[in-house]
Amino acid sequence: MHPFTYTRVSNVREALDAGRRGGRYIAGGTTLVDLMRETVETPDTLVDISALPLREVTVTERGGLRIGALVSMAETAANREVRTTYPVLSEALELSASAQLRNMATVGGNIMQRTRCTYFRDVTAACNKREPGSGCAALEGFNRTHAILGTSGACVATHPSDAAVAFAALEASVHLLGPEGERTLPFADFLLRPGSTPQREQALRQGELITAVEIPALPRPLRSGYLKVRDRQSYEFALTSAAVALHVRGGVIREAKVAAGGVGTVPWKLPAVEQHLVGERPSESLWAAAAERATEGARPLQHNRFKVELLKRTVERQLRTVGEME
Ligand code: SF4
Repeated sequence: MHPFTYTRVSNVREALDAGRRGGRYIAGGTTLVDLMRETVETPDTLVDISALPLREVTVTERGGLRIGALVSMAETAANREVRTTYPVLSEALELSASAQLRNMATVGGNIMQRTRCTYFRDVTAACNKREPGSGCAALEGFNRTHAILGTSGACVATHPSDAAVAFAALEASVHLLGPEGERTLPFADFLLRPGSTPQREQALRQGELITAVEIPALPRPLRSGYLKVRDRQSYEFALTSAAVALHVRGGVIREAKVAAGGVGTVPWKLPAVEQHLVGERPSESLWAAAAERATEGARPLQHNRFKVELLKRTVERQLRTVGEME
């Protein structure tokens, strides 16, 4: 392993000072430590932020929910407000990783986690994300689990987080604090598509720290849920997934929030599906017709063509499940 120094900070000012000097933030460490062992990542300085006061889940004045960046995945999933108001998020979290990892990993770290592309983790393979300009072994290699949406000629890796799919569907925002002060980014702008710079995955500035993720107030009652399709039923990443939230009043869908996972280079919001649903009455034919629109713009690779049909079926099934909830 590459030698590194380790600093544990006790307040935000110390963290930002260390971050400005190039330190790499670490909390649960469930992704970063693995990558350091494999020499995929070689930071010189680790800044342990796990003692910072970013561990609260609070209802905002506007009726949304603010989740501190250091709240663990397990605590978030078990939170009463999350379970009752946004079950799509608690389900996405509980279908992620393992119980041990969910106890260690934080919400901030979860949305920062890096791709599971095997070539990215194999330091002998060409990978533009790990080593810009070296090429992409997945394009001509085994690409069964790779993305069909949001890809570029430089990278076709999927974003691995389930929770991020729920956040994308719910149109969450990410609160940041950096040397230049606070700012808030819509979730859709926080994670970046690869384009020609796949090594740049988040719209973070040097030394910036995630302080919280906020879900906006959404009309109630809100039915929601998460469906994850994978090769085995536990401790596995999604081949496809669907996060769905519907507000139905008077027998008509008034609001629809839908996103897909396992198929995009970032969590993939599905506005065409949402538009197809709003103003309509729930029905079997509606779920099928809306789901048809989930794959607009898809560009499958040699080994993942099956994801096109699988994504439509995943979205249709989850629309039906959520649409028929009482
Ligand atoms: Fe690297 Fe992206 Fe290609 Fe995977 S898909 S090898 S992460 S450039």
